[in-house]
Amino acid sequence: MADITIYIANLAGVDDDTMTNVSNLLSGYWNSVLWSTDYNLTGVKVVKHNSGISVRKTDLLCYIVPNFTKSKVKLWSTKSTYNGTDGGLTAYTDSEPWKSASEVYADVVNATASDVAGAYANLIFHELMHNKGTIGDELHNIGGYGLASETVDATSALSDGNCTFLRGILDKEVTQYVASF
Ligand SMILES: [Zn+2]
Repeated sequence: MADITIYIANLAGVDDDTMTNVSNLLSGYWNSVLWSTDYNLTGVKVVKHNSGISVRKTDLLCYIVPNFTKSKVKLWSTKSTYNGTDGGLTAYTDSEPWKSASEVYADVVNATASDVAGAYANLIFHELMHNKGTIGDELHNIGGYGLASETVDATSALSDGNCTFLRGILDKEVTQYVASF
């Protein structure tokens, strides 16, 4: 049995009630993914500071930043390009050792979502699929659609295919880029 913790770095001042809902949604998704596997979700942890957190290679981390100008991903990888409209971005290494960085943008979520918590949860899950898979746009075709689809919003739903895709790569060790925050 191995443990997985999902970290969300709330660097955009999203309120606690919303973050509780985001955490609960993500816990539900990941418990579905991990059901009947050797992995156990230890929790979804919302953090505001990087002090005292130890992100293991099977853990995942996604930043919520106010907007792209506050990007953490671009501090680590200049390869990633942002089109100015997507809700999130992930950068990753092209070969081992695997390393990834993911973030979502509060300005995009606030401008487009009526269900803010649902939008955050679904976008974070989507970016973490890119992250764990160290995979770009191909994810949108091979990740089981649902939350792996090219367009994800609060109305998107976890699919069996999403679970199958992630179960196939749970053993993959992906170091998370932990920025200072
Ligand atoms: Zn995507």
